[in-house]
Amino acid sequence: MSEPDSDTLDPTSLRTPIVAVLGHVDHGKTSLLDKIRGSAVIEGEAGAITQHIGATAVPLDIISSIAGDLVDPEDFDLPGLLFIDTPGHHSFTTLRSRGGALADIAILVVDVNDGFQPQTLEALDILKRSQTPFIVAANKIDTVPGWDPNEDTPINATYDDQTDRVSSRLDESLYEIIGNLSDEGFSADLYWRVQNFQRNVGVVPVSAMTGEGVPDLLAVMMGLSQRYMKEEMEIDVAGPGVGTVLEVKEEKGFGTTIDTVLYDGTIRADDTLVVGGMNDPIVTEVRALLQPRPLAEIRTESRFEKVDEVGAAAGIKVAAPELADAMAGAPVRVVRDRDLEAVITEVRAELADIAVDTEEQGVVVKADTLGSLEAMADALEEAELPIVRAEVGDVAPRDVSVASTAEDPKQQVILGFNVDVLDDAHQRAETDDVRIFADEVIYQLIEEYEEFVEELERAQQ
Ligand code: GDP
Repeated sequence: MSEPDSDTLDPTSLRTPIVAVLGHVDHGKTSLLDKIRGSAVIEGEAGAITQHIGATAVPLDIISSIAGDLVDPEDFDLPGLLFIDTPGHHSFTTLRSRGGALADIAILVVDVNDGFQPQTLEALDILKRSQTPFIVAANKIDTVPGWDPNEDTPINATYDDQTDRVSSRLDESLYEIIGNLSDEGFSADLYWRVQNFQRNVGVVPVSAMTGEGVPDLLAVMMGLSQRYMKEEMEIDVAGPGVGTVLEVKEEKGFGTTIDTVLYDGTIRADDTLVVGGMNDPIVTEVRALLQPRPLAEIRTESRFEKVDEVGAAAGIKVAAPELADAMAGAPVRVVRDRDLEAVITEVRAELADIAVDTEEQGVVVKADTLGSLEAMADALEEAELPIVRAEVGDVAPRDVSVASTAEDPKQQVILGFNVDVLDDAHQRAETDDVRIFADEVIYQLIEEYEEFVEELERAQQ
């Protein structure tokens, strides 16, 4: 059994900020995370970074050795940074619905060659709504003509004191990104010109491939986090745990488990939990708290190690009965010495906050997490499309039954965002004449649907 990290349990210390990495597919989110993790492993002794479930903790001293002069550990009260491992944004849209946060700060990754893309805009919408402070990593600078890998940093190599601009293609790409951010209502600038990163978005040129700019990125993140955690966060790190479900997973020997990000308080191996479920909040007892075993120790019995307690911020796998209906993106609350009914009411209220308003007639919407369901509902509202049912989960035959009852053929439709369509749902849809659209990009999903409606209308004329 491992001891809880005493740093994170000291109620006077700032808790580790949780960092989410967002951005369009292929812009380099995974590579950037890998680079940060990889540098941490190189800089640190074995075991210096702690692998969590769904997240990686990089302690302050390791951040400081990667960032060199840019981060002096003396200047910071933060224990380090906790990076959520699953890049993408679909769980992140429920940020801060009731004082809680899945992520405190974010890195928005934008490919300098590709610029703003649909998922960049989706991510920005989420950041805007949740008022999450963020910085932009303008990635893949190594691919820009004129970049010189032999210089210390591409930024210094191309930066001109006289004109206060960076030169050439890179310059153009960076200013285009700043312009795009401004179109979306953000005041942004190159990071070395930003005074207050909470008010202005700093754009940091980086290469996830070569690692250039990563020290600068970490330094800016630390500065932003420290300020933000001090000014904005009211947390009780020793109280009953508060978290969010990242993923619901079957795990051999443990049944259904929830991968959870704990952003406040502690979870203990004997706690009672209330977890947001498909129908009603689920009340259950922790059976085991599981952390990944260090690679060297993996034996046949389990990839996981049981722990007695974890403190925020942490990623932890919780094994408990009754979790089959748990939803990704839903709240997790430890009851401990609080009144069970009060906690249930709290979870129910939080779910109601996220819940989607449905009409008597409309399309069926399925999504992979509560957050993505909310994002879909928003997008459909904008497109003035009514919804009859909105749920987390794969497209199943009963969704087809619901869709088939629509009076308007345009609404005999299921829109699935980031979910699978079960085989029997496909078959059922064919017999019931229901159309199923499934995609991983909201804009594309809605476009596909709109094309279908146009076709229908043409056919009716
Ligand atoms: P994600 O979908 O946003 O997670 O993107 P990935 O991290 O999977 O990156 C997509 C592709 O871009 C991969 O082939 C990466 O090797 C490549 N890539 C990512 N970052 C860089 C970079 O800084 N420079 C170059 N040249 N390629 C990169």
